Amino acid sequence: MKISELLKKDTLSLSFEVFPPKTEYAFESVKHATEEIAKLKPLFMSVTYGAGGGTSQYTLDIAKNIKERYGVPSLAHLTCVSSTKETVRGKITDMKDAGILNVMALRGDIPAGMENADRSKWDYRYAIQLVKDIKHSGADFCIGGACYPEIHPESPDQKSDIKYLKEKVDAGCEFLTTQMFFDNNLLYNFLYKIREAGITVPVIPGIMPITNAKQVERAVSLSGSFMPQRFKSLVDKFGHDPSAMKQAGIAYATDQIIDLYANGITNVHVYSMNNPDVAAKIQNNLSDILGK
Ligand code: FAD
Repeated sequence: MKISELLKKDTLSLSFEVFPPKTEYAFESVKHATEEIAKLKPLFMSVTYGAGGGTSQYTLDIAKNIKERYGVPSLAHLTCVSSTKETVRGKITDMKDAGILNVMALRGDIPAGMENADRSKWDYRYAIQLVKDIKHSGADFCIGGACYPEIHPESPDQKSDIKYLKEKVDAGCEFLTTQMFFDNNLLYNFLYKIREAGITVPVIPGIMPITNAKQVERAVSLSGSFMPQRFKSLVDKFGHDPSAMKQAGIAYATDQIIDLYANGITNVHVYSMNNPDVAAKIQNNLSDILGK
């Protein structure tokens, strides 16, 4: 089913994310994690895409499996920045042939060492170009895009970030998923601003349950997310104790989701990172609210 249709529900629903293995040796463990998460019957499951395209076949295989074997709608990510038009055309055809209905169209991060390269010669500089190519491919995909409540790290300011986001949505994105954030007020401010700018598509907030202290550093360096004092205190208190930190991180993410739902948001994407245990604990914490 298309995600644009699934998002019409007005009660709380969760979706979960998995990422493909980097090598074929890890494929079985990712398959197992995927299966366990699928058993939770989320609204949909997304499968990320290796920026360089190295694990791209796995993304497609996993997304197909989620849909066909487990009966859960899937969302296949696709990045474009290090690809040629020809490669992307092939990927779009493969997705269509595999019966994929939902595609997350992303630029991808600039590969290390290429930050100062002459980008004018690249086939793809921005996700909007990929959105347009998918839209004009003749396949009837539901296309999603990424957005950044705390602005994209390369953007000079929020005004231009939102201007380009609007262009990307107008090119064919039917929904947006946000970068992780740890302070819901940042999301509410962002929603206010994008609605004012005329972006009306559904926005799915992305929540990352931080379950170990190392993850904090990685999350901040990857996303530049602001860490509220309430969250820092929790890491200070429990960071040295893995099981306590995991419990506290799951409780914090659960709290964020409850607050989002209380403020009118009905779909939340959980960056569950191939971790069925974390996905299940969050879902159990919300069982009465979810009716599951
Ligand atoms: P864009 O929408 O192209 O934006 C990138 C930057 O360019 C922004 O600063 C924007 O303001 C600016 N910009 C856009 N258009 C223009 C224009 N016309 N002129 C000037 N500036 C412009 N990465 C992966 O490798 N694999 C994944 O599976 C993956 N999944 C993700 C899922 C989500 C929900 C999110 C939030 C991110 C994900 N990423 C993934 C990371 C993403 O690829 C990076 O954040 C990347 O740096 C930007 O991708 P984008 O699609 O948002 O790019």
